Formats: sequence, structure tokens, C-alpha cells
Amino acid sequence: MERRPFGKNGELVPVIGQGTWRMEGDERALAIRALRAGLEEGMMHIDTAEMYGSGEVEETVREAIAGRRDEVFLVSKVWPQNATYEGTIAACDRSLSRLGTDRLDCYLLHWPGHHPLEETIRAFETLVRAGKIRSWGLSNFDAPRLEKAFAIAGEGRIACDQVLYNVGERSIEQAVLPWCEQHGVAVVAYSPLGSGVFPSPRSAGGRALLEIAAAHEATPHQVALAFVLRRPAVLTIPKASRPEHAVEDARAAGLRLSLEELRRLEAVFPLRVKRELPMI
Ligand code: NAP
Repeated sequence: MERRPFGKNGELVPVIGQGTWRMEGDERALAIRALRAGLEEGMMHIDTAEMYGSGEVEETVREAIAGRRDEVFLVSKVWPQNATYEGTIAACDRSLSRLGTDRLDCYLLHWPGHHPLEETIRAFETLVRAGKIRSWGLSNFDAPRLEKAFAIAGEGRIACDQVLYNVGERSIEQAVLPWCEQHGVAVVAYSPLGSGVFPSPRSAGGRALLEIAAAHEATPHQVALAFVLRRPAVLTIPKASRPEHAVEDARAAGLRLSLEELRRLEAVFPLRVKRELPMI
């Protein structure tokens, strides 16, 4: 699978990885099979968070990656309410223990919270020096907040901004994506399939996805993933609890849409700028 840099001078990471939100409860056993199927297909970037199932999902991930930890690019996130200096370090230790590993490849602040960002970043840098995380990044940060983080951390420290991005929600193209492109920060598109709300085949957008998919012997979901990956700063982390979905998602990495197809999708799913960066 194609790989892209995870931040300036960052590790090369497969363009399509695996989300894990809601992989808990009854979904757990099937989700473990799906994550393993995804790994077989090269989706080595696994995204989780202490918030997911209040830690249960990190334990699911531990089981799914057992025996393959070194091949995986493992990302977790600190809950903003925990993101003081000491709180971040303690939260990271708990995540490491639930994940059964001694280090994360990247550790993110889940969204901007009330604790001073200086403290969270200082904790991230302490964790890097201790070898507990290999890099750190942000999530749900708009351009002004990215600028603030950049002013605190300096050049080349922020590996990624993980943000909501899919055909129907293109707000990041206004300011976040250009900012990240300019500063060598990877953009990780979350909910790239609309978090379960996918354009209906009866809508104009749904029809466009179907017709473009048919031309490539692909599926509309694969076209939606190829669309978010059309700019080289972007990587993505669809979530699939069903193994067949995971395999299908991974195979979208080889799909190249023509300029004409991209223009058609951009026209039928127009960029609607919002005052606040949307998040879910
Ligand atoms: P998503 O990936 O946009 O959509 C997941 C849904 O799409 C599931 O219902 C899944 O079904 C279905 N699906 C997956 N592949 C499919 C395929 N090939 N064909 C048909 N349906 C398919 O939603 P998401 O979980 O919201 O986002 C992805 C990940 O991003 C999360 O899991 C999480 O790791 C991360 N995230 C981060 C934040 C943040 O604040 N940083 C917020 C939201 C999400 P099945 O599960 O039944 O296979």
C-alpha cells in the first residue's frame, strides 16, 4: 500500500489505516477479525483512544495486534479532561498498559480542551524523551489553534491533525488543509465514510459515486476514500467492524480518480464553509 509521511520527517505510514470507535460490546469479536483482516491487507495504522469504550477498545486493539505490534503504527489519544502535564503522562501509561505495549507511534490530544495547551505539549515532549511515544499530534484543531500549537512547539513537532473529512464534509479544505500542507503536518481524515451516514444512491451525489465506482470496477465507498486521499498531505482511517468491509476499504488505496471525476464529485458535494470546525 502507498505510504505517506506522518509529519515533517515523520515515518512513512500506509495511506489507509483503521479506525476503532465503537468496537466494543457485542461488536468486539467481529471487530477483532476485521482489524486482523485489515492488517493482512496492509492497513497497519490503527487509531484508537482512551475515550473509546472507556478503555475497552484499547484492550480490543491489544488482542487484534497480538504478535504483530512491531508492524503496526499505533495511535491513541488523551481525553482533553486529562490533558494537564501529570494527567497526560498518567493517561499515556494507562493506554500503554491496556494496549500491551511499551510505546505509541503517535499520541494525540483528542480535541482542544480547557487545560493549557503548553502543559499538554510539555507532557508530550517528556513522553517522547522517555521513549513512551515516538511522535505526537492534535485532533479537531482549526487553523488558529494549530498556529497557537505551532508557536508553542516549534517547527516539525506536530505530526498530524486528525479531523473530520469526507465527501459531504469538506470544511477543512478552507483553512486546515492548506495550513497543514504549508507546515508539513499530516492530515488524518476521520469518519471518511460519514460515520455510517453514506450518500444515498437516490441522491445526485450518491449517483455520481456509483457511476464513478462502476467505471473503475470499484464500490462507492472506495471512491469516497480515494476522494479524501486526492491531496498528498492526507491519510485516512475508516472504521470497519466487518472483515469484508476492511478488505474493501484497504483496496481503495490503489484507486486513482481522473481529474474529471474529481471535478464532478467536487461539484456535486460542494465545499460549505462553517464558522466553527465541525467535529463528531
Ligand atoms: P467511518 O469510518 O466514516 O464509517 C464507519 C461506518 O462505515 C461503519 O458503519 C462501517 O460498517 C461502514 N463501512 C466501513 N467500510 C465500509 C465499506 N467498505 N462498505 C460499506 N460500509 C462500510 O466512521 P467513524 O468510525 O466515525 O470514523 C473512522 C475512525 O475515525 C473512528 O473509528 C475513529 O478511530 C476516528 N474518529 C476520530 C474522531 C476524533 O475526534 N478524533 C472522531 C470520529 C472518529 P461496519 O463497522 O459494519 O463494518
